[in-house]
Amino acid sequence: MVRLTCYGGINEIGGNKLLLEDGDRRLFLDFGFPYKRHKLFYEEYLKPRGGAGLLDPLAMELLPPLEGLYRDDLETPGLWEHFRDTPLYRKLEQLDGVLLSHAHLDHSGYISLLRDDIPIYTTTTSAFIAKANQDSGKSDFDQQVCYFSPTTHECPTGWKQVACLSTNTLKQQRQFCIADMKPEALSPEALQFWSWGFWEKTPRQKGLVSHPLAGHHNCTFNLRCFPVDHSIPGACAWGIETSAGWVVYSGDLRRHGKRAELTESFIAEAAGLRPRILILEGTNVLREANVAEHEVYQNGLRIITNSNGLVIADFSPRDIDRLLTFLQIARDTGRKLAILPKDAYLLKTLRLLDPEIPDIAAEESLAIYQDTIAKSPDLWVRNICQDYDSKIVLADDVSADQDKFILCFSFFDLNELPGIRPRPGSLYVYSSSEPHDEEQEIDFRRLRNWLDHFGLRAFGLPVESGGEWQVPEGEKGLHASGHACGPDLLEIARQINPEILIPVHGEQPHFYRDRLGNSGINIVLPTVGEAIEV
Ligand SMILES: [Zn+2]
Repeated sequence: MVRLTCYGGINEIGGNKLLLEDGDRRLFLDFGFPYKRHKLFYEEYLKPRGGAGLLDPLAMELLPPLEGLYRDDLETPGLWEHFRDTPLYRKLEQLDGVLLSHAHLDHSGYISLLRDDIPIYTTTTSAFIAKANQDSGKSDFDQQVCYFSPTTHECPTGWKQVACLSTNTLKQQRQFCIADMKPEALSPEALQFWSWGFWEKTPRQKGLVSHPLAGHHNCTFNLRCFPVDHSIPGACAWGIETSAGWVVYSGDLRRHGKRAELTESFIAEAAGLRPRILILEGTNVLREANVAEHEVYQNGLRIITNSNGLVIADFSPRDIDRLLTFLQIARDTGRKLAILPKDAYLLKTLRLLDPEIPDIAAEESLAIYQDTIAKSPDLWVRNICQDYDSKIVLADDVSADQDKFILCFSFFDLNELPGIRPRPGSLYVYSSSEPHDEEQEIDFRRLRNWLDHFGLRAFGLPVESGGEWQVPEGEKGLHASGHACGPDLLEIARQINPEILIPVHGEQPHFYRDRLGNSGINIVLPTVGEAIEV
């Protein structure tokens, strides 16, 4: 018997944690950070306490109470006694691995809390993005996907409590198993990137291992890893052969992006497996159609060509397709695209795997904006700024030559504006999604205040009317979503034609039941923690 238990990603966009069990064999499909539930309780200045380890995420039901799954060093004394009577409690003897679909934190974030001997299977690109994000971010203890600092239980002088104190500065790397290539095929520079930051030559540093599952531990699942198109490079879907037939997991995907052909091959190959189960995302089921990336290019080019003064482009920095779209616009309008050091670090990392990614040093239309900092920069920033010394621009450089730049800023970089002093009438191009929750709505209002204060023109920025946030008419078409629209998702389901479809990663799970009722596909809606048995 095969059992699928969903511990996240139900009635929410992201937070996927899907446990697939076939006898004694066990896999998690993604182990994501549950943003929606997290925001019910926490904000920037109220966070789970790092010193309390697993207690906070377990007590707030952000994490399923599965004893045996998590890092020992995050276990405070007597921890599990508080959770043995909770409805979802289980003791898990063994987990063969996590199949990670892509490096967005709502799919990967809580890998940080898993035992470090659990292998993570993913594409090379996703593994590298996970590391680049962590190297260049200030991630909390519950988002350290690629490596972590083991904590020790000690009692500081003058304190009575024994908690998990992060006194250990040694980093410990997780075991990533890459499904799409052999580590030997990686360049020495790529391998060097993977081990960068681990100075202690100890077993803490784990090399990349190849080949999915077979041969690793006792796991004998036959696996297929299908690259798909999404708003981050390296995304994949998975096929898992079980005793009840093939189970296919879509991860996040779209058919309208730059690499749509990947998604099409996945659909054809998944259909060829005649799967018993298809676990399919449903982020944008209510959307009828999607803007394509080339339309973003055309619309962005049109508005930026006709503007004087500074241009600020606001888009998700991990969306490399969008970064390349704006780079092309910069070339075509005689401007330079000024990216932040963390974006440069990601570009440099991805170029280790894909020679099509532009070389920052050789790309005339790229510059790196060095932001104003209070204390000495981290080593990765210093390295980037040394590597690309001739590419660095400062606030004064941008200020003096405003017609020559497109600055890649998001809302959270706007505190640089006092140093840049944009000329009134400068342009703010918004190329991202509408606000999804109250917190983001507040940020949108603040963003508007910043633009008003500096006399910046907004383009493509959603406005609120009657409780709905919408991009004004005539300013649409500046964002291509990472997710397939409703008609595309239905077509994917029909073409793969599984016996059972399980919707995840969406807030309208009934959509599939309503639309595919007569298709012969059995739609099974999951509930949190309740096993679906096949
Ligand atoms: Zn995603």
